[in-house]
Amino acid sequence: MAVRDGFIWLDGELVPWQEAKVHVLTHTLHYGMGVFEGVRAYETATGPAIFRLKEHTDRLFNSAHIMNMKIPFTKDEVNAAQLAAVKSNNLPHAYLRPMVFYGSEGMGLRAHNLKVHLMVAAWEWPAYMSPEALELGIKVRTSSYTRHHVNITMCKAKANGNYINSMLALNEALSGGADEALLLDNEGYVAEGSGENIFVIKDKVLYTPELTSCLDGITRKTIIQLAEERGYTVREKRITRDEIYVADEAFFTGTAAEVTPIRELDGRIIGEGKRGPITEQLQAVYFDLVRGKLDDQYGDWLTYVG
Ligand code: PMP
Repeated sequence: MAVRDGFIWLDGELVPWQEAKVHVLTHTLHYGMGVFEGVRAYETATGPAIFRLKEHTDRLFNSAHIMNMKIPFTKDEVNAAQLAAVKSNNLPHAYLRPMVFYGSEGMGLRAHNLKVHLMVAAWEWPAYMSPEALELGIKVRTSSYTRHHVNITMCKAKANGNYINSMLALNEALSGGADEALLLDNEGYVAEGSGENIFVIKDKVLYTPELTSCLDGITRKTIIQLAEERGYTVREKRITRDEIYVADEAFFTGTAAEVTPIRELDGRIIGEGKRGPITEQLQAVYFDLVRGKLDDQYGDWLTYVG
């Protein structure tokens, strides 16, 4: 990752990839107080386009606000930085990583007088889930790790340190032979995956957990709108893991995971044990719209890199 050609946008300018470095005393590296985004640019017939750029930038600013970090750039500048990161690297499609982090001016927990930095990297990352996973679904395991409690870390912030919990859960799931983890909240209700929101479908109604202890996912919001526009009822409510065992269909949503069907949870087959029909329908619409094929309806959600 460190050694490659191209550019990374750092604090207002495009820096050669190999020179975009920080000091070992970088505050965020020590305590995890930083915020970031995961954004995607898709290949379309008229070049790369960033999906829901404005919403990702808004969430980055909200995350920083929650963490009391002041981003020294405007939203327009951060949007332009993301477009520049894709363009300057000549990427047909890309995963983008904007991150806001503290500098190395001091080490105390007070975090006083620290510089706030912003970087945006972009690279080709065609698939987080394999093509088979997107078609056949994945095996998920309920995690022994509890998702963040709303009064321990801030669940509405996409904060660097929050992801220790995700990585513990994901690694546990992978080493147990599953593809992804399902994390429950501190009361035992379904929260989300390590980097995804979850939906379950029963009798043609979609259910997804309230936002109490899961991230306000942009793909989640997208899927809720797409499902409602296609006549489905979507309910946000508390969900138990055994509701998923007996659901007709279940799927994860996320910028990286897109719409990934879940075929099994804790060794219980869900529905037919493969991608269900409503999941397939919504996944197909999602893939068409992110690739610019539905711009007459959803063009506002794509920002063409140009
Ligand atoms: N939950 C967590 C913990 C995540 O990291 C992500 C990925 N950002 C999501 C949900 C899905 O959010 P989005 O659809 O905005 O990518």
